[in-house]
Amino acid sequence: MEKRIAICPGSFDPITRGHLDIIERAAGLFDEVIVLVMVNSTKTNTAFTPSERVEMARRVTAHIPNVTVDFSGGLLADYAREKGACTLVKGLRAVTDFEYEFQMALTNKKLNPKLETLFLTTDIRYAYLSSSIVRQVASFNGDISEFVCSEILEEIQARLAPKTEQAQPLA
Ligand code: ADP
Repeated sequence: MEKRIAICPGSFDPITRGHLDIIERAAGLFDEVIVLVMVNSTKTNTAFTPSERVEMARRVTAHIPNVTVDFSGGLLADYAREKGACTLVKGLRAVTDFEYEFQMALTNKKLNPKLETLFLTTDIRYAYLSSSIVRQVASFNGDISEFVCSEILEEIQARLAPKTEQAQPLA
């Protein structure tokens, strides 16, 4: 039988515990899961380069044998076509995610009619969590240990924590 392949696409800037929860659950449902780091043209100001995002995603998913991490700078529908039969797996947080995800799912279906999108509801523990929350809290030197995995915590803090002169109060 043909292998069931799932693609978990996103910016992963950086990958969070919420992302990882979706990836782990997808790994239980499919034979193979590809975590696909992508360029989102509406998010041009990323904190981490594509290779840093790929590297971090590899470190936090290293314990899941059927997960690999890849990068694509192109269209998701084209990447999926090259991989053969596959399903997109996306996490849904609140109502706010729905409109965008609904539009993307229909667009991808239009571009590649064989491509299905499967939505997994967020685990309630991570319902509030996003990469932008991580970046924001880290940029004020806040505790992000509940938001990201320990393997990448220091790298994120080192990059995003304010330098001492920035942290000084206004004179
Ligand atoms: P995008 O650039 O498409 O917004 P993200 O890197 O923000 O990509 O997220 C990739 C996917 O992970 C999206 O489907 C998003 O809904 C999902 N996701 C992000 N954070 C969470 C979370 N805390 N719980 C569940 N799903 C999440």
